[in-house]
Amino acid sequence: GKRTNMSIKDQRESLPVYKFRKQFLEAVGENQLMIVVGDTGSGKTTQLTQYLAEGGFANDGMVGCTQPRRVAAMSVSQRVAEEVGCKLGEEVGYTIRFEDMTSPNTKIKYMTDGIMQREILLDPELSKYSVIMLDEAHERTIATDVLFGLLKKTLKRRPDLKLIVTSATLDAEKFSTYFNECPILSIPGRTYPVEIMYSREPESDYLDAALVTVMQIHLTEPIGDILLFLTGKEEIDTSCEILYERMKALGPSVPELLILPIYGALPSEVASRIFEPAPPGSRKVVIATNIAETSITIDGIYYVVDPGFVKQTAFDAKLGMDRLQVTPISQAQAKQRAGRAGRTGPGKCFRLYTEAAFQSEMLPTTIPEIQRQNLSNTILMLKAMGINDLLHFDFMDPPPTNTMLTALEELYALSALDDEGLLTRLGRQMADFPMEPGLAKTLITSVNLGCSDELLSIVAMISAVQTVFHRPKDKQQQADQKKAKFHDPHGDHLTLLNVYNAWKQSKFSTPWCFENFIQPRSMKRAADVRTQLVQIMDRHKHRVTSCGRNTDLVRRALCAGFFRNSARKDPAEGYKTLVEGTPVYMHPSSALFGKPAEHVVYHSLVETTKEYMHNVTAIEPKWLVEAAPTFFRVAGTEGLSRRKKAER
Ligand code: ADP
Ligand code: MG
Repeated sequence: GKRTNMSIKDQRESLPVYKFRKQFLEAVGENQLMIVVGDTGSGKTTQLTQYLAEGGFANDGMVGCTQPRRVAAMSVSQRVAEEVGCKLGEEVGYTIRFEDMTSPNTKIKYMTDGIMQREILLDPELSKYSVIMLDEAHERTIATDVLFGLLKKTLKRRPDLKLIVTSATLDAEKFSTYFNECPILSIPGRTYPVEIMYSREPESDYLDAALVTVMQIHLTEPIGDILLFLTGKEEIDTSCEILYERMKALGPSVPELLILPIYGALPSEVASRIFEPAPPGSRKVVIATNIAETSITIDGIYYVVDPGFVKQTAFDAKLGMDRLQVTPISQAQAKQRAGRAGRTGPGKCFRLYTEAAFQSEMLPTTIPEIQRQNLSNTILMLKAMGINDLLHFDFMDPPPTNTMLTALEELYALSALDDEGLLTRLGRQMADFPMEPGLAKTLITSVNLGCSDELLSIVAMISAVQTVFHRPKDKQQQADQKKAKFHDPHGDHLTLLNVYNAWKQSKFSTPWCFENFIQPRSMKRAADVRTQLVQIMDRHKHRVTSCGRNTDLVRRALCAGFFRNSARKDPAEGYKTLVEGTPVYMHPSSALFGKPAEHVVYHSLVETTKEYMHNVTAIEPKWLVEAAPTFFRVAGTEGLSRRKKAER
């Protein structure tokens, strides 16, 4: 490829944003607040921060740039450090939850929007910063939306602070109206036409259709890389394996196809390979989640394969909680995805849905997260900042009143809010833990119950990683056997504890991990998170004590945070949730699968073919009553029952 022969300076100067540099710096000099719009890949994220530093705007404070995704913050800061010519963590660094790669020398700091939200909670003036760039604002994550409102206030108190909001789409007018008619600057674009192809009939199996399409492109279309959008890790890993097998079956006569996955949980060394050009004569196919839609740009893509789906969290009113769901993308997302094929030259986009479906079944734009997700986390944080009147908070798009009420009710049930909706002492403490309120409550409760040592390990493992168990396709049985050795009769939380303790016993050994089909990287991360949680506990003077063999206490602490996620065995349906009465099922990977556990609490629900409970623990009903007397009572022969709404 072209890139390899270009110096970093040439590369930087070849980006569309380069011609805009002077105009940009002048505008920042003259305005406290502005919006910058430019196509994805034009250089906003990697260049604007550097221009600011070069222009002297990082002399009296840092340039902070927010990203909706962790991987983007890591990958982009790595790139910028390279361009600046420093070690990552020195002049250029990043901070994500539980991981701080910055130093006192850091001038350009990338971070997730969630981290900036935490920082503004601790220091509403944001005194360490001279410029804030709210990047990828078009993604409209909850954290970014909340930061809009909070930063507007900070700007009033700090006339010397600059705010730049960047977006890849044309909602700029709406942004400008919200931000007091501030100026909008556009980066002149340079994109090539993209030919759009639709499926003639709806696809019954989009994954299969996607892989067939990728192979067809590889075998019949001129040279140029392929980008395939899928919904998550499992799908991507499976697809990589299938493609690999199909290529192997074709033998050495066909040109090489480099198969490169990219998703949020992928380690960063692997992720940076996606940017390397394919060797001459070969082609690469990047198989990505939504992360490649706007946050990460890969050069050299000529073909996009778009099945039209995305996995996103949405509040499920029926279940009364958030749920990860595979849903159709919006028309705006479809256009973004297609656009990825036209950055290097004229491209093609294969949409694996019909034109009629695009027109009539897809929403014009994506609904902002704040209007579709659980808000208890956000509301707890706002309350901790002293913002009590949520109905009058300056939201760009206010969340539905019902969603707010549900969150308030949830926080009240967790005793984080009092009768008047004001933050309790417990609530204030919960807000200091960077995790969902249920986990924070569990952890704090464990201090009083005398099992915080155990809960620290469990909570660290749950909030650090998706899973610590390694289950390779060709050794599933072996992996399952090893895992079963850790199984605790009372369920998955205590199983996680067993794993952590056994690893600790091995002196945190990596070979031990490989022997036991445990992912060492995940364990190290969990240990890291645990250390940080201990620091927060110390700040609050919470004692770390162990309950030894009396692990009932661990399960009681879990009830304190997760009584809403409780279910009871149902003769017909597997389980039924106690609060909403909906059917749910034990996940086959659970230590309780096939075991007679009458009452359980679970950490989350995952929908695949059915609604599955993940991380499940058997409990006694009286613990639920103890945890939430406003929710449950023990009634006569029926046993446990849920109190009626009016009763609560
Ligand atoms: P925008 O924010 O406007 O979408 P970016 O600043 O992310 O644009 O991207 C500008 C250029 O930098 C793109 O050509 C992209 O491929 C390149 N780039 C970004 N990250 C990396 C990386 N880690 N390695 C190599 N190139 C990268
Ligand atoms: Mg960007």
